[in-house]
Amino acid sequence: MTAAPPPGRVRPIIAVHGGAGVPAPGRLAPAQRAAVCAGLHAALAAGRDCLRDGGRAVDAVVAAVSVLEDDPAFNAGIGAALTREGHAEHDAAVMCGASRRAGACTGTRRVRHPVQLARTLLDDGPHVFVAGPTAEALAHERGLAFLAPEAFVTPRRLAALAEARRLSESGLSEEARHGTVGAVALDAAGHLAAATSTGGLTNKLPGRIGDSPIPGAGTYADDGVCAVSATGRGEYFLRTVFAHRVACLAELGGLGLAEAAGRALDEVAALGGSGGAIVLGRDGVPVFRFNGHGLYRGHWSLAAEAPSLAIYHDPETGPAPKGTR
Ligand code: ASP
Repeated sequence: MTAAPPPGRVRPIIAVHGGAGVPAPGRLAPAQRAAVCAGLHAALAAGRDCLRDGGRAVDAVVAAVSVLEDDPAFNAGIGAALTREGHAEHDAAVMCGASRRAGACTGTRRVRHPVQLARTLLDDGPHVFVAGPTAEALAHERGLAFLAPEAFVTPRRLAALAEARRLSESGLSEEARHGTVGAVALDAAGHLAAATSTGGLTNKLPGRIGDSPIPGAGTYADDGVCAVSATGRGEYFLRTVFAHRVACLAELGGLGLAEAAGRALDEVAALGGSGGAIVLGRDGVPVFRFNGHGLYRGHWSLAAEAPSLAIYHDPETGPAPKGTR
């Protein structure tokens, strides 16, 4: 691990994703596209406001992900993908690159903002990862907001579950299959953080845990290297320990972050998986990588007046947003 750059030379920035469950180009309904873009914009604004007001990277990623958890357009919080029994079961994690502290939770059904529960673990310990009833009891103890389990269930996700029950998994659309939200940020002090939150996969077994809440698999941050939030079929990202793999390929393998993310994603693809990731290093240049149709994504630096949003590679939304790689 190397030291953070001296403050003053840092370009504070937040980047978010709304998952790789993107329909083929031309098949994204205009209303869904507008909803996703509005949600990404709101999340970036929340994260950027934190950074502008002197907040830490970890504050910014939690603020951004909390906004996406409240937005039914995304597979996290309200609007999460449903288990085979029709419940929303949430997973979330957050990691601070400065301290290498992490917090994570899985299997909650009533906590409004799972990422905020993960944050309390990061701040207060003594544990990193809590599950189910223990996680909910802890959220209650820490005064976090709760919602009735039904409040997380949306008509769109019920339709996706019905489709999943009818079709084999390979017949399911990308959008119906998965999603996830995540954020990475660099603050004015040169510190990095990452957070990820999800309902996981549609029609998953109750109790199934994906990569998103696992530090090192779906979420990772180390000031000396990078911050990573991944999305995709979690089993493959778990098997490749994806987010830590990106950091290792960069730190020990000497690859640039774009190359490291691409190589790690190739390893996921070689096992049969698909998805994507957002990666941020201390240079403040966000990396977006995906191997499916697209990745709902955006970034907003303190220096920019407006955020950059993108979905596809292709001309439908133009090239990758300016200032990315
Ligand atoms: N990675 C998530 C999981 O497997 C789902 C996704 O990102 O689409 O739970």
